[in-house]
Amino acid sequence: MSALAERYAEVQQRIDSKLRTVGRSRSEVTLVVISKNHPSDLVRDLYALGQTDFGENRDQEAAPKAASVADLTRARWHFVGQLQTNKVKSVLNYADVLHSLDRDSLLDEVSKQTQRLERKLDVFIQLNLTDDPGRGGIRPSDLEIFAQNVLEQRNLILRGVMGVAALDRDPKWDFETILEASMRLRELDSGATAISAGMSHDFEVALEFGATHLRIGTAITGNRNL
Ligand SMILES: *Cc1c(COP(=O)(O)O)cnc(C)c1O
Repeated sequence: MSALAERYAEVQQRIDSKLRTVGRSRSEVTLVVISKNHPSDLVRDLYALGQTDFGENRDQEAAPKAASVADLTRARWHFVGQLQTNKVKSVLNYADVLHSLDRDSLLDEVSKQTQRLERKLDVFIQLNLTDDPGRGGIRPSDLEIFAQNVLEQRNLILRGVMGVAALDRDPKWDFETILEASMRLRELDSGATAISAGMSHDFEVALEFGATHLRIGTAITGNRNL
């Protein structure tokens, strides 16, 4: 087995074993492998192992990579990084899911471009769990107001909330905040049940707090070296 296949199998095992412990089913959870800083060959290798969901955080890197593996017909691309409005058109060429919907100007542009293309897009509302407005994401207290605006856009399918736990404290605090926000969102839209949370170093904790979409990079891909 290649080192990549070994790491992939090990992460899958850790997901399975945590889900057993907390009494959740594997079918509730989507593993998104973050392929940033790795070439498209890594995407091909993981696809051959059965992986279909891939994530990227920069359009400049993601656009050519997604184009070069366009023959992998079951591959789905998740955009997880801060997105400038002038990149929305490009991202919509390949992305199936946007995890980082985080402000009105981006919402307006994504709504406009999906209408132009007559297509739907799955979106997560990104929460900012820090006091730093530069980190992207809406404040948890603004969730309902922003979510109402998202729900008015008929081309957007609101899947749930997304967050990145702060590195300087126990991730439980942030995953609890995300879960609590998710519960409030479900009051507005009973279909918006998904939680995009959990990365290489904290995905097991995220699974304890209801994460449905894990965004895992280095634990599977190894160190980034593109
Ligand atoms: C890079 C990235 C990840 C994956 O990080 P790892 O620590 O490599 O697992 C997850 N989410 C976002 C938003 C990222 O930018």
